[in-house]
Amino acid sequence: MGAPHIRIIFLGPPGAGKGTQAARLATYLKVPRISTGDMLRDAIAARTPLGQVAGPLIEKGGLVPDPLLIELITERLSQPDCAGGYLLDGFPRTLTQAEGLEKMAPVASSEFVVFDVEVPREELLRRLSGRRWCPTCQATYHIYNNPPKNDSLCDRDGTLLIQREDDKEIAVARRLAEYDERTLPLIDYYKQRSCFHRVNGYRPVDTVFGELRQILEERR
Ligand code: ADP
Ligand code: AMP
Repeated sequence: MGAPHIRIIFLGPPGAGKGTQAARLATYLKVPRISTGDMLRDAIAARTPLGQVAGPLIEKGGLVPDPLLIELITERLSQPDCAGGYLLDGFPRTLTQAEGLEKMAPVASSEFVVFDVEVPREELLRRLSGRRWCPTCQATYHIYNNPPKNDSLCDRDGTLLIQREDDKEIAVARRLAEYDERTLPLIDYYKQRSCFHRVNGYRPVDTVFGELRQILEERR
């Protein structure tokens, strides 16, 4: 018998380390990491109709409308690589999206896990202002915490790293406000359920990852 079907979602504010942990966990569990932020940035780069709507909203730090996200995720979860489970990074971000997820791809025997990664606000600002991003492969670095080996170049493909437009100060303020208003209520939505796990993300990457793995092992 193969590994059990697992669905994991990450809650937590921008900069909490969701993408960093999700990437590691996806490799460890051998399931795809589905980042709606990456998918939207791909759509913007490819100038698709979705990208044209999403671009200006993302740049200012706003959220992209729920129906577009629900359609995007419904389509993505129907792909064959999601058959053994998946890890969602950046979705759901609103109550409407969480309700949409419940209706999508219901797998009776699936294990469902919610990680809420918590980090103090001043640390979030430090992480977001120092985040650098590879526009080719979407790898994420930090100028102090996780610098590339070669000055400002992506370790994987040598592309010049850049700062995301939405990691600049004004957009960050808006993203944190959106998080407080629209994503924070998801904690109440999930927290009474046994799938919900709050994790202190204000620790080294390896320590946080170790705790995620331990939680998953203890649930089995
Ligand atoms: P999110 O996906 O939640 O927005 P990221 O995973 O992109 O967050 O992390 C934000 C920034 O903080 C990145 O530059 C990343 O390298 C850095 N980072 C991630 N986790 C940690 C950690 N545990 N300690 C310090 N810096 C971190
Ligand atoms: P992220 O890479 O997760 O930080 O997402 C970057 C931006 O993409 C967000 O600030 C939103 O503008 C948009 N976005 C990503 N996921 C969602 C979502 N689930 N709902 C609405 N907007 C989203």
